[in-house]
Amino acid sequence: MDAQRTLRRPISCVGIGLHSGNKVQLSLKPAAAGFGIRFRRTDLGDLEVPATVHHLAGIQLATGLARNEVSVETVEHLLAALVSMNIDNVLIELNSPEVPIMDGSAAPFVYLIQEAGVKQLQTPRQYLKIVRPISISRGDKRIALYPSDHFKVTYSVSYDHPLLRHQSRTLRITEESFIEEIAPARTFTFLKDVEMLRQNGLALGGSLENAIVLGETGVLNNALRFEDEFVRHKILDAVGDLALVGHPVIGHLVAHRAGHALHTEFAVRILEETHAWRLVEAPMDVPVAVAGRVAAAVPHLAS
Ligand SMILES: [Zn+2]
Repeated sequence: MDAQRTLRRPISCVGIGLHSGNKVQLSLKPAAAGFGIRFRRTDLGDLEVPATVHHLAGIQLATGLARNEVSVETVEHLLAALVSMNIDNVLIELNSPEVPIMDGSAAPFVYLIQEAGVKQLQTPRQYLKIVRPISISRGDKRIALYPSDHFKVTYSVSYDHPLLRHQSRTLRITEESFIEEIAPARTFTFLKDVEMLRQNGLALGGSLENAIVLGETGVLNNALRFEDEFVRHKILDAVGDLALVGHPVIGHLVAHRAGHALHTEFAVRILEETHAWRLVEAPMDVPVAVAGRVAAAVPHLAS
């Protein structure tokens, strides 16, 4: 059995919202077992929105949540850091609708969680273990989950741009691999799209400090953090969006040319396809129904 975890102590930081450009205070606070991950708007009478698919709001360039009149946006990088560092329960306070963009990656959130420290709780964690494939295709975009003993992601992207025509990567996601290989990968955008976003009142807080900007032939930023930073960031986004199922997933996520809209549609689909997964208390637990079949097929195990 793996125990649920929360933070050892509260911690805060200040950043700016990518779209509004406004200053945002973010605080992460310890929470009891079973609380889950919830956002609280301190500027709106402490109203809360749980980080689950049930509260998905409109998806544009980032993933947002809403309940009644309360919304929070750009939740995915923070959620990716929390779930990859096995934080099951946390209260996230914001005094603005947007999670701060920080440097466009999840590394600053990893640092915050490390600074707060981790506390084990007395209640077992429940994993969502995939036992049958689930998939969605939309044109040439595809996303699927297959049974696996671990949480792994294979992601591939292709764009009509000389720097990232095609990138693909497979990684088993653990706390260590996430921190080293995925968390530092920054979000990216194309210069030709930046003007369009600004005209629509979006990305007002965007700059070379918090996104990789691709010009016609190269990046405007000085250097990339990884040669394939783009596909690594797509893995980061997918891990954060998948967190909305509300349990750590044990399975192999395979995505091609997907994005927030497809990731989140898929998170909803996973919960609908109840025959395709079981809740288990350890990643290697054999779900009860499958265990019965194995026992029947291998007589000496049946006794
Ligand atoms: Zn992102």
